[in-house]
Amino acid sequence: MQQPVQITRHPRSRRLKLKVHRDASVEVVAPPRASALEIERFVQSHRAWIEQAQARMRKLRAERAPADEQGDPTRLELRATGHCVAVEYCNKRGRRGWEWREDRLIIEVAANDAANARDLIIGALKYRARATLEERLWAHARRLDLHFGKVSWRHQKTRWASCSSRRNISLNIRLLFLPVELVDYVFVHELAHLDHPNHSPLFWACVERFMPEYRERLKALKRAHQYLPEWLFDCARG
Ligand SMILES: [Zn+2]
Repeated sequence: MQQPVQITRHPRSRRLKLKVHRDASVEVVAPPRASALEIERFVQSHRAWIEQAQARMRKLRAERAPADEQGDPTRLELRATGHCVAVEYCNKRGRRGWEWREDRLIIEVAANDAANARDLIIGALKYRARATLEERLWAHARRLDLHFGKVSWRHQKTRWASCSSRRNISLNIRLLFLPVELVDYVFVHELAHLDHPNHSPLFWACVERFMPEYRERLKALKRAHQYLPEWLFDCARG
């Protein structure tokens, strides 16, 4: 069965671009003025490629989700801060919430309520990221003598981080699962955007000045999805 294709208009996009996500959903990134017919033809002409990519994603997913990972997670390997967290579920007081106790995360939610349990874990991870990992961003900013506005933590499907024109930095809680040297690269990348809100040669020169060995890290970041637990892919937004 063909799934509906999600169409995202991007103001800076110049040509049509296809993406097949890990859940095998298909997205077309289109320039603002591309017509519906043009997009439809583009998708049709790449049908074979899309099906191959979807098959690859489904296979990857089946391989990476052993039986015990298909339920609610019981362990979170937060590589960025060097913590392995045990997740415990309890349902005694009939309330909904989460609580950190050192390296244990207590999730209070009705049994078999996977969607809510995962939302709670995401909420707990936002808190944890702010309390532990965020300090590294501030430390890099101090080292490079850069100033920015607010930091927000989100859970997004497609971006590790972003930097707005108002100098606010948005970070993805998924960073918690990556080795810290990749997180440092993401932080430095966003800090370089404070002076260069684009990916121009000047921007990359700035990244290199901040982190001379950035190329290897950028390369490793492209394969970093291997560090993410499968359940995260089921509950991302945007
Ligand atoms: Zn960038």
